[in-house]
Order: sequence, then structure tokens, then C-alpha cells
Amino acid sequence: QNEALRRRGLAFLRSKKALIHNAKVTMAYAGAKRLIAVIKANGYGHGDVWVARTLYDNLHVHDFAVATLAEGERVRQAMPEEEVQIVLLGVQPAEFAPEMVAQRLAPVAGSLDWLLRAVAALTQSDTNGVLSVHLAVDTGMGRLGAKSQEELAAMVDFVRTCPKLSLAGVMTHFATADEDNPGYYCQQLADFMKMVTGLGIEKDKWHLANSGSALFHRDDVPTDNIRVGSVLYGYNPAMQDRALPVELKPVASLVGRLWGVHLLKKGESLSYGATYTAKKDQWVGTIPIGYADGLKRVLSGMSVLVNGKREKILGRITMDQIVISLSERVPINTQVTFIGRDGEEEITIEEMADFGHTIPHELLTGFSDRIPRVDV
Ligand code: PLP
Repeated sequence: QNEALRRRGLAFLRSKKALIHNAKVTMAYAGAKRLIAVIKANGYGHGDVWVARTLYDNLHVHDFAVATLAEGERVRQAMPEEEVQIVLLGVQPAEFAPEMVAQRLAPVAGSLDWLLRAVAALTQSDTNGVLSVHLAVDTGMGRLGAKSQEELAAMVDFVRTCPKLSLAGVMTHFATADEDNPGYYCQQLADFMKMVTGLGIEKDKWHLANSGSALFHRDDVPTDNIRVGSVLYGYNPAMQDRALPVELKPVASLVGRLWGVHLLKKGESLSYGATYTAKKDQWVGTIPIGYADGLKRVLSGMSVLVNGKREKILGRITMDQIVISLSERVPINTQVTFIGRDGEEEITIEEMADFGHTIPHELLTGFSDRIPRVDV
């Protein structure tokens, strides 16, 4: 932490203890037997391999989900263990099926056409292995998946009869699991049940519960397998709209250092657009973080913590630097907390997301690799 702060003036701190805690309490609360840890977009910014390794070594979690082929390949390289399954969520190019077999990546298939194209690619290549697939059912996200039982049944039949394929799972994804109004959610769930029931797919292959389902719908959704991201990272997918039923611990905090401290004179302005003008002489500090690090420009005006007190980002966030208010002169290198606790005060990722009119996922996945990740 100190070295990162000394060299870069910034650190994305991540806690293994918190990650393990969150996985444990969520599984216990949902009554889950198997956790498919969603580690796409570099583990929601925390480091995909770091998350996978931590969960595997400590809790023997061995199912992980990423979004792209490149993410899958990277995780596979770091996690060669036979029992580690890596699911590729989202639409993939079917012609890369041979690479998926070679790397033991299990794609989600959205249609019979996709399966046919994947098998054609396998046949053309000299791949001998079998492609494990998860069949998607579209119950309301509208991104991919079978939309009727006939469509799904055709996919299931094809997978069962094709020696190049094996059925690893069947899934859907909820659009409103974290919302108060259960109407859309219940419809999605009912549609999934209607489509899947009767096709003879073992229940231990179903996975549909995301964080919102695991937290707020454990009694109505099958939760033997949960496929979750947000809860692992310790934040509430419903933000302030619903109280968490379990205590989650934030995995990430974001801290920086004041690399400059100076007096802004009454009437002087700062940053692009000169949108902030000092009403009186005031101390301000400069920190080497900007929107290129993922501190989005819409967060201009947001609070930060210095010595346990709230200060504010003044003027516009620039690409690499920001200026903050200081209620008193403080030494250079004083620590500044963007996300996390300092004394009695805390800024959560939910608060930051609320300020930026967005969701924690977007902010966390946006912190760039210019910020060193540091284990605490
Ligand atoms: N499953 C799929 C298909 C997803 O796209 C995502 C995340 O976007 C998840 C599961 C995990 O969602 P959450 O972070 O809400 O648990």
C-alpha cells in the first residue's frame, strides 16, 4: 500500500477477508450448494484471477463466469485445475468453439443456430474434445436465449445427440431481481419454470439466481446454484432502495495521496471551465487521479475524506488530477479516501454511485489499471 501510494499516489485496496466473508454469508443465506462466481470485467475491477484464486484456495469455489473469450483464456491460464469450470456469459463468436474446447471454456449458447455453427467449427478443425455448453433461456432480458419451450427442447435434443457437445447447464438472467416490485421478476421465473420443466434437465444444472435473487428472493427461486457478482464484492445491488438481509463487507477501498497543497486566493478559480471560484482564501490539495483512472467526470463535486472529515472535489475532474477543498492546511502526502472509512466517516461505493447517477458495477469496472491493486 505504501509503495503504491509513494510511487503512484493512488491505491485500489482489496480485502481477501471481506471477499471470503461475503461469499460465505451469501451462500449460507441463500442456502446455496454451489457458487458460480461472476468475475467478468476483471472481477468487477478487483482482479479476476485474484478473486478466483482467493475463492478457490479458501472456499474451494470452482465455478467462475466471465464475459469474453479473452477473459476466459486469462483466467484459465491462471487456473488450470481440472475441476475449475469457466463459463462464458454473453454471445460469443461460434467459430471460436475449437479455442473454447482447447481452453476448457464453457460458453452460454443462445440458439440452435449457434450450436450448429459451433459444431461446424469443431468439425472443420481437428479438435477432438467436447464443448460443454450452458443453454440460455430468454425470459425477459432480451439479450440471448430460447424464447419458447420448443426452441429450448430443440437445443437440448441437439446437445444430447451430438457427440461434440455436452450439457453443462441451463440458465436465465433476471432484469429486476433487486427491485421492490416483484411483477416482472415473477413472470421471468414462471416462464423459466414453464420452459425448463419437462425437458429432463437435472436441477443441479439450473442456475438463475443473481445477487438480487439470492438476497431478496431466496424463498421463491431455486438457489442450489447461485451465479452472483455484486454480493461477493460487498455491495448492495439495490443500493439504498432495499435493506440488505445479511452483513456484507466492501472488498474495495480507494485511497490517494495529496501530492500538492496550496492556498487558493479569494477570487481565484480552478480547473477546466474555471467553474469554481474561491469566495475567500482557502487551502486546497491536488491528487493524481482523474477520469482516465475511472473517477468519472460526473463525480465532480463529490465528497472525499481527509483526516476523518468530509472535503469536496472542487471544479471539474480532469484526466489525471483533481483539486479538493481542505478545511485546514495539511501536510503533503496526507491520505485521502475516495471509497472507504476514515475515522467516523465512510464513503461507500453505493454513495459514490448515487452521486454519479449510476450503479456501483459501472464505477468499479471503470477503475483503470493505472491504479495499482493492493491486497490488505
Ligand atoms: N449472470 C449474468 C448473465 C450477468 O450478466 C451478471 C452480471 O451482470 C450476473 C449473473 C451477476 O449479477 P450480479 O452482480 O447482480 O450478481
